[in-house]
Amino acid sequence: MDVSLFFAGTAGSVPTARRGLPALLLRAGGHRVLFDCGEGTQQQLLRSVGLPELDAVFVTHFHLDHWLGLLGMVKTFDLRGRERPLSIYGPPGTERLFTGLRPILGRTAYPLELVDLEPHAEIRFGTFLITPFPVKHRVEAYGYAFVEDERPGRFDVDAARTLGVPEGPDWGRLQRGEAVGGVTPEQVMGETRPGRRIVISGDTAPCQAVEVFAHRADVLVHEATFMEEERARARETAHSTAHQAAEIARDAGVGLLALTHLSTRYFPREVRDEARAVFRNTVVPRDFDEIAVPFAERGEPALVKPEREPEPAATP
Ligand SMILES: [Zn+2]
Ligand SMILES: [Zn+2]
Repeated sequence: MDVSLFFAGTAGSVPTARRGLPALLLRAGGHRVLFDCGEGTQQQLLRSVGLPELDAVFVTHFHLDHWLGLLGMVKTFDLRGRERPLSIYGPPGTERLFTGLRPILGRTAYPLELVDLEPHAEIRFGTFLITPFPVKHRVEAYGYAFVEDERPGRFDVDAARTLGVPEGPDWGRLQRGEAVGGVTPEQVMGETRPGRRIVISGDTAPCQAVEVFAHRADVLVHEATFMEEERARARETAHSTAHQAAEIARDAGVGLLALTHLSTRYFPREVRDEARAVFRNTVVPRDFDEIAVPFAERGEPALVKPEREPEPAATP
C-alpha cells in the first residue's frame, strides 16, 4: 500500500499568496482522508492533485482557520453528484456545529455523517486506523495518529524448500498461518513487521501526548507557529516553537519531522534551521509538497517536490 501526505495548506491562522490554510491529505492505498480543511482548501486541491472523493475529514479543533473550507467543499461534492457517504469527525461539538450550519448548508443528496469523537476512538479504514488524542490548545483540540496494522513476516523460500514443501498452494497456506504436512508457519515465516505510523499534532503547545503517540513514528507533522524568540507568545496562545516541536520529535525518536502551521513572520528556512539544531531530520514543506512514507525496509520517508512544468526547449 502506498502511503503519502500531501500538504494542501501549510499556513497558520492567515493565508498568504504562497501558503493556504491548514489542510493535509493522507493517501493510503485507495483511501483519501483529509485532516483539517481551512478556507480555500478545495481550490488548493483543485490546483494541485484534484479534489478527491474523500472518505472522511478529521478536524483537529474549531478555530476558523481549520474548518471553514468544509462548507464549500461539502456543497461541491453535492453539486458533483456524490452518492457515497462522507464522514466528518472532530472533537466533541462537531455534530452541534454542523447541525447549526444546516440552514446555510442546505441538504446534501449524499449522507453526511457528523461524529463527535471520544479520545482514543479507533476509526478503521482497511488495514489502518485513525485515532484521536487530546492535545493542549486554547480550545478542546485533537491530534491524530495513523496506525497501520502489523504485517506478516517475510516468507522464507529456502526454508520451505529445505523442509520439503513444494512451491504451489501449500506456500499460500503457510503464509495464511496454516500448517502443511507437519511444517508450521513459524518455521517458514519471519517475524511480524510493524506497520507504519504517522502522527499529526494539530495546534498545540508542547504536549506529552504527542510524544507518546509519536513514539518511533515514521513521520510527525507538528505545528511550529512560533520561533524561540517568541516563546512567551507561544505559551500564551498555546502553540509551539520550532525548537519545541523538534524536542518532541527527538524525544519520540521519529523518522522525520515535518513542520507546518507557519506564521508569516518568519522565513521557512529560519524555522527549519531552529528545529534542525535540535532534530536533524526536519523538513518544512511548502504547499503542494508531499511526503512519501514507504515501508521501513524500502526506505525512509522523504519530501517530494511537485513536478514543475518543464522549461520550454530553446528553439535552435
Ligand atoms: Zn490554527
Ligand atoms: Zn487553533
